[in-house]
Amino acid sequence: MLRRLASESFDVLVIGGGITGVGVALDAASRGLKTALVEADDFASGTSSKSSKLVHGGLRYLQQGDIRLVYQALRERKRLRHNAPHLVKILPFLLPILTKDGLLPRRVARALGTAMWMYDLTGGWRIGKFHKRLKADAAFAHVPTMRREKIAGGYLYYDATVDDARLVLTVARTAAAYGAAVANRCRVTGFEHTDGRVSSVTIDTGAGPITVSAKVIVNATGVWADDVRALEDGVHPDSIRPAKGVHITVPWSMVRNDIAAVIPVPGDKRSLFVVPWGARADGTFDHTYIGTTDTDYTGRLDDPPCTAADIDYVLGAVNAAITTTITPDDVTGVWAGLRPLVKSAERGRTADLSRRHRVTKGPGGVIGISGGKLTTYREMAEDTVDEVGSLLGRKSKSRTRSLLLLGADDFKDGAPGSRESRLADRYGWLQREIDSLIAADPSLGEPLVDGLPYERAEAVYAVRHEMAIELVDVLTRRTRAHLLDRAATVKAAPSVAELLAAELGWDHAETARQVADYNDLVAQEQADAG
Ligand SMILES: Cc1cc2nc3c(=O)[nH]c(=O)nc-3n(C[C@H](O)[C@H](O)[C@H](O)COP(=O)(O)OP(=O)(O)OC[C@H]3O[C@@H](n4cnc5c(N)ncnc54)[C@H](O)[C@@H]3O)c2cc1C
Repeated sequence: MLRRLASESFDVLVIGGGITGVGVALDAASRGLKTALVEADDFASGTSSKSSKLVHGGLRYLQQGDIRLVYQALRERKRLRHNAPHLVKILPFLLPILTKDGLLPRRVARALGTAMWMYDLTGGWRIGKFHKRLKADAAFAHVPTMRREKIAGGYLYYDATVDDARLVLTVARTAAAYGAAVANRCRVTGFEHTDGRVSSVTIDTGAGPITVSAKVIVNATGVWADDVRALEDGVHPDSIRPAKGVHITVPWSMVRNDIAAVIPVPGDKRSLFVVPWGARADGTFDHTYIGTTDTDYTGRLDDPPCTAADIDYVLGAVNAAITTTITPDDVTGVWAGLRPLVKSAERGRTADLSRRHRVTKGPGGVIGISGGKLTTYREMAEDTVDEVGSLLGRKSKSRTRSLLLLGADDFKDGAPGSRESRLADRYGWLQREIDSLIAADPSLGEPLVDGLPYERAEAVYAVRHEMAIELVDVLTRRTRAHLLDRAATVKAAPSVAELLAAELGWDHAETARQVADYNDLVAQEQADAG
C-alpha cells in the first residue's frame, strides 16, 4: 500500500480512517474513482471505536424535533442491516416507565406512546419490528435488578447494534477490495499547492515522508479536522466543538438485563443506555456496558480521559435504577470518545447540538465532511463523493446503498452464544479463514485473553489481513478485550505480544516495548479514573 501511495496518482485521497473516511473511500472506490486513504494512527482509533455502538435513529432527537435526522438514520439502519447483516444486529430496548410509587400517570403514558409511534413511523417499521407496551411485571423481567416498586410499566422497541471498530475495519477492507490504497500509521503533515489548488500531501509513515498526489483531497478527520485545515490554509478555523462521552463496562451478573434498557439520570434531562454484551448459549451475557455522558470538552484530543467524576455520574444513574450497588472497583473497562459536533451555537448543552453532517469546500479545493453519526456514515459518504465528482467533472451515482460489505454474502445467524455465531458476528463468512489458521496450528484455537471469547488465531489474522501493527490494535480494536476486561488484557499482554512478535518480526526489545506501552495506556486510564 505504501508503495502504491508513493508511486500512483489518485483521483481522491481521503485523510482519516474513522467511519467517515473509510465510508468515503468505499463510496469513491466503488464508483470507479482511483482512491487512497491514509490514517494517522490505527483505523477507528479516534471516535469511531468509542461510540455507544448503536445503529439507531435516536429517540432523543425525536424529542428535540429533529425528525429528518431520525428518518435518515432509520433509513440507513435498514440499509446497514442489509449490507452488513453479520455486523449489524437488531437490539431490543426496554424503556421502563419509572415513577416514585410505581403508578402510571396517564399523561406520561400518552406522551411516551406517541413518541414510540413516531419512532415506528419515522422508520422503525423498516426492519419489520414495532414497539410494544409492557406491563410492569414484563418490564421488570427484562432487568430483574431494577427496583420493582418503581416500575409502572414500559415499552419494548427495537434498534440495532454494531461493533464500531470492526465496522470501520470491514468498510476499509471492502474499499481495498474495490481497489483503494488504504494505509494506517500514515499521518498527513503538509499540503502542496499547484495554481492555488492542493495537488498533493506529505505523509509521515514513521520510516520517512511520502508525497501522495491526488486531484481531490477529502478531510475526514473528525475532531482533528480543524488541525488538518490549519495545515492547509495556515489558519485554525476553530469550527468544531468536541463533546465527550464515556462508557463503563461491568460484569453482566450485576445488572442481569436480557435486552438493552434506557435509564434516567436523576436530576438531569439525560438518560443512559444499559447494553448487554457477549451473549452466551444459556441466555446470559458476559458483560453490560453503560453510557453515555455528553459534556463540553477542551482537553487532549488523543485518548480523552474517562475521569472519576464521569464514572460517578454513570454509576449514580445506574445505582438509582437497580438494587445491586455497583462501585468503581466493579468497573472492568471504560472508554471515552469525542463527538465532532459542528459549532453552530456557542451556548447551550452539547447534547442539544445537531448531529447532522456538513460537506464543505476549502479555498484550496479540499472537501471537508464533519458532524454526523456512525449510523449515517454511508449517506455522509455519498454526499461527499457527489461533491468530489463535481470537482473532478465526473458525476456518477453512489453504489453503496445496497453494496454488501466484506463477509456479508450468504450470512446466516448462528445459534446465539455459539462459537460459530460469535465469530460470524465479527467476520461473516471470512470466519473460514480463522478456522483455516486453527486447522494448520491447533494451538491458535486457544483463548487469547483468559475469560474472554477471543482465540489466538484472531490476533494472527489481525496482523495478516487487518493491518494490525501494534499490540494495542489487537487488544483494543481488532478484538474489544480492552473495553471488556482491561485487567485480563494486562495479564495476557506478554503472551499476545509474543504471538505478534513472530508475525511482525519484533525482537525482544520491541516486544517488551509493546507490552510496556500497553501497560502505560492502562495505567493512564486507571490514573484518569482516580
Ligand atoms: C460517546 C459517543 C457515543 C456515540 N454513539 C454513537 C452511536 O451509538 N451511534 C451512532 O450512530 N453514532 C454515535 N456516535 C457518533 C459517532 O461515533 C461519530 O460520529 C463517528 O465515529 C465519527 O467518525 P469520524 O470518522 O468522523 O471521526 P474519527 O473516528 O475520530 O476519525 C477521524 C480519524 O482521523 C485521523 N486523523 C486525524 N488527523 C490526521 C492526520 N493528520 N492524518 C491522517 N489521519 C488523521 C484520526 O486518527 C482518526 O482516526 C457517538 C459518539 C460518541 C463520542
